[in-house]
Amino acid sequence: MTTHHEPATSVLETIGRTPLVELDRVDGVERYAKLETFNPGGSVKDRIGKHIVEQLLERGSVPPGGTIVEPTAGNTGIGMAIAASQYDLDAIFVVPAGFSPEKERLMSALGGEIVHVPGEDGMDGAIERAHEIAAEDEDAIVPQQFATPLNVEAHYRTTGPEIVEALDGEIGAIVVGVGSGGTLTGITRTVREAVPGVHVVAVEPEGSTFGTLLGKSREEGPYKTEGIGTHDPEVTELLEPAEIDDFVTVSDRETHAEVQRLAAEEGHLVGSSSGAASVATRRVAAEIARDERDAPHDTVVTVFPDGSERYLSKNIYGAFDEWEGKK
Ligand code: PMP
Repeated sequence: MTTHHEPATSVLETIGRTPLVELDRVDGVERYAKLETFNPGGSVKDRIGKHIVEQLLERGSVPPGGTIVEPTAGNTGIGMAIAASQYDLDAIFVVPAGFSPEKERLMSALGGEIVHVPGEDGMDGAIERAHEIAAEDEDAIVPQQFATPLNVEAHYRTTGPEIVEALDGEIGAIVVGVGSGGTLTGITRTVREAVPGVHVVAVEPEGSTFGTLLGKSREEGPYKTEGIGTHDPEVTELLEPAEIDDFVTVSDRETHAEVQRLAAEEGHLVGSSSGAASVATRRVAAEIARDERDAPHDTVVTVFPDGSERYLSKNIYGAFDEWEGKK
């Protein structure tokens, strides 16, 4: 990490230290979002790409000149490709069909090779294929963002401390979307050290079934919101149900309207998972104001994982019915 006075020695040094911005208050409760579009690859996943690649090299888990093979919907691939390019590793990304083409273009531009699995095989299919590919090359490793504690550790060491520092520990609730769960679990661990009573709310799209891990009833269905949610709650090993106070759902309709409102009214060009996170923070803030949630401060913090530019081809700014998403 550099100060503004010194030039960064490489793109990797520009990862992290993203701005935390105040959003409109709800019933007097403050809301803050960490703007992860400020990372060089445009998403929160640059943090784990850097940390995971550096740690794997340091531990000798991948040899110099080796290959990483990673299942990803795109942002993790972009983050890992940036790190792999700087450490002279090859990168192969296994992507379920149906995610945004912009992310694939960016992974390729950074030197990554793309392998597709059918959309209906989902992330589980991508994980399986990644292991098959890696099994054929003794210098290849599957970092596996859904299983490696390094994913959580990246957020525990960077995203979490940045939030605690920016708000001087005045954090009432953390409200964060869940894909691998790395962001939520990592931030929660850091913030709990500073604010033991912080209230933690995980967010998923309506139709996703992570909430069953907390005993919530969920009806599986299609959703367009990209980067969060699952139809297989066991897909990730990084969620600790005991650390989460609540799991909420946000409908695609609410998410889509909020993505457009955030641009038009607050000047934030964010992707759908940020829209879902913002909707959830509004709800949680209103509930804190009514004393319906046990939060130690009147402050809600979320993460805006990426920006809208990589979803323009999916008509994220079109009418709801024109927005094409993962089914
Ligand atoms: N939003 C977007 C756009 C993402 O790409 C991801 C990662 N899949 C997330 C949210 C969720 O982050 P995490 O994997 O840390 O739960």
